[in-house]
Amino acid sequence: MSDNRSIRPLRTRIAPSPTGNCHVGTARSALFNVLYTRQQEGTFVLRIEDTDAQRSTAESERGVLEGLHWLGLTWDEGPDCGGPYGPYRSSERLSLYQEVADGLLAQDRAYHCYCTPEELKAEQRAAQKARRPPKYSGRCRNLTVAERRAREAAGQAARIMFKVRGGPVAYDDLVLGHIEENSDLYGDIPIMRSTGWPLFNFAVVVDDHHMAISHVLRGPEHVPNTPKQTLLYEALGWEPPAFGHVPLLLNPDRSKISKRKGAVYIGEFRDQGYLPEAMVNFLALLGWHPANDKEVFTLAELQESFSLDRVSKSPAVFDETKLEWLNGVWMRSLTLDDLVQRATPFLRNAGLPVASAPAERLKAAVGLEQERVRRLSELPDATSFFLCDELEDYDSKILLARRRTAAESRDALASARAATAAAEWEEAALEETVRAAADDLGWRHGHLFMIIRGAITGRTRTPPLFDTMLVIGRDRVLSRLDDALGRLDQLVAEP
Ligand code: GLU
Repeated sequence: MSDNRSIRPLRTRIAPSPTGNCHVGTARSALFNVLYTRQQEGTFVLRIEDTDAQRSTAESERGVLEGLHWLGLTWDEGPDCGGPYGPYRSSERLSLYQEVADGLLAQDRAYHCYCTPEELKAEQRAAQKARRPPKYSGRCRNLTVAERRAREAAGQAARIMFKVRGGPVAYDDLVLGHIEENSDLYGDIPIMRSTGWPLFNFAVVVDDHHMAISHVLRGPEHVPNTPKQTLLYEALGWEPPAFGHVPLLLNPDRSKISKRKGAVYIGEFRDQGYLPEAMVNFLALLGWHPANDKEVFTLAELQESFSLDRVSKSPAVFDETKLEWLNGVWMRSLTLDDLVQRATPFLRNAGLPVASAPAERLKAAVGLEQERVRRLSELPDATSFFLCDELEDYDSKILLARRRTAAESRDALASARAATAAAEWEEAALEETVRAAADDLGWRHGHLFMIIRGAITGRTRTPPLFDTMLVIGRDRVLSRLDDALGRLDQLVAEP
């Protein structure tokens, strides 16, 4: 779709409401705005849209900013960094909304409405019963001057309603194409509450205009708001920005993503061990399709390749399996030092002795698991037997070799222990000695390896055995083998 706003300086924004945490939908909108704006050297603004005074919290605002920062997204103007169009919170712009609403009142494009919440509810119920759309009847639209004065004198609170002109209203969506609606269906639109706070549709229009926003790229839940906002622009005599709505996010079962069904906040994905690089990569592919088959993108590469005409109209599937796969790709691409640094908080939180373990061991352990895990949060479990002196309790049955009795397994493990103790502590020598021990026993090498693995890790699946032994260290390997022999003695005694 061509962009008819190219003459205006490119200014974009996101306007999150601080009523929750940093939702993936917000993050995806922010990312698309960043990609579009940086590509064309425009200005990206973060505005906090806290018109819902009851539900907005400072903590949530912090959470939203933190989530976006974690992803590596940056903005040029915002509540935290200021800028020439501030303030950047709706709650700090109340006088501006009032001024604009007063202008509409003066031009007879708006009016005071004195209906009480009870009256409005009763109207809605009547409309529902009669199967009419629940729009405001416009009862206060034509009050006489005397009637209005009487209500004011009685101290009745008034909200301000915008007079919808009726008839068709249209705009060209950068993603969805031409959208046209019949505004007779809406009824008049409330723009200011009796408390002096603006309603969302009005605040967004006033703010976007006063912040000289040229392009609004936002979530699909705002498609129904856009014709209403278009009417407000028209009445105010302001040029609207270009609007584009990114596609809906669905679970693989086609249901809408929601908190009840899984993680939806950026912080949750961070805590689950996803890397910001993978998250950004994944979010970009939620609705945008690259021109080729490439799937792994850095933020810089996305900035280069992104284009609005490859943003899809149809819903995007939020497939966590794909996110996990991408995260694995990104984990493998990190330098080992970087991976260790990112893994450390996860290891520490899991209670592993990160500070006391030798740095070389920590690095080697994480290095052995780098190819095997897909999330940082898998690393504590995957490395605990390297880092802790004592193994967690494990099932002694993993020390029984295939089709062998406890006594046979014990004797074989005793030979393996003797061979290990005698071997030079070096990978090739160790492997040669243990294989020779298996040959002497007449055992398949793999069967002996399995019970050694069980004895020194308490697991059945680990990185390659001899690498693992070297990282655990000679003394600990020998003492774990001794402990396993004790367990096998017990199995022999009481099978
Ligand atoms: N505050 C709205 C939201 O969080 C966004 C408004 C807009 O982008 O126009 O969904």
